[in-house]
Amino acid sequence: MSPAENLLKDLGVTAPKDIDIEAIGYHTGALIKYRPLSGCEGRIIGANNRAVITVNSEAIPARQRFTAAHELGHWHYHRGRSLICLPDEISNPAKGTPYTERIADGYAADLLMPQFLFTPTADQIGKVSFAAVENLRKEFKTSITATAIRLVEYGPEIAMLVCHTANRRKWFCRSHDIPERWFPRDDLDTASDAMDVLNGKIKHSSHMLIAADAWFDRWDAKKYELYEETYRITDNEILTFLVFKDDEMLEEH
Ligand SMILES: [Zn+2]
Repeated sequence: MSPAENLLKDLGVTAPKDIDIEAIGYHTGALIKYRPLSGCEGRIIGANNRAVITVNSEAIPARQRFTAAHELGHWHYHRGRSLICLPDEISNPAKGTPYTERIADGYAADLLMPQFLFTPTADQIGKVSFAAVENLRKEFKTSITATAIRLVEYGPEIAMLVCHTANRRKWFCRSHDIPERWFPRDDLDTASDAMDVLNGKIKHSSHMLIAADAWFDRWDAKKYELYEETYRITDNEILTFLVFKDDEMLEEH
């Protein structure tokens, strides 16, 4: 079990509603304050056994919660350092994000959506979809992106989550069961509804079966089909779930 999950167990957390981020901060010696911040999303000033965390109060509540948990991640792993975290560095799985920020994101995800609570809830819903994300967000009070990433990691179906901005792939993550040869294309295929979502024609595409070569540039991709579903999260950013249904795609070569 990860350090954040151990902490929750020590505190006797048995349901998502028990994850009280300020109380957890207090328990670890970190005071969490909410103030308008410009240019950064969160910061931590720590010395000895005490820290003060400031979270940007202008962000949406789910984002503030994730930022607070992210700063607690710095408090756990990078104690003694004062850090300022930029909006682009929090909840960003892109490869270019600094390693310390990804560590703090991992801690935040474990604290807000621990596997021992997330997996049973996601299993009950039984699907990797944006409807499932909405249900999970109500329970865990987390953002669409952070919840969708978790659903791919610990969800009931084998899936990939791909993020695109303006016709270019920004990042992706996948279930552990997906072999590395399935590496998503940079661009969007015209056969996919994702393009319409990115262009703002529709906010959300329906769950539909599509040939895998729309998403993967491999010689054998056209032999397979998978489910896609795309959701627009900002004016120029979309998330797509690709749900793998063909066991042959999951075989290691
Ligand atoms: Zn950070």
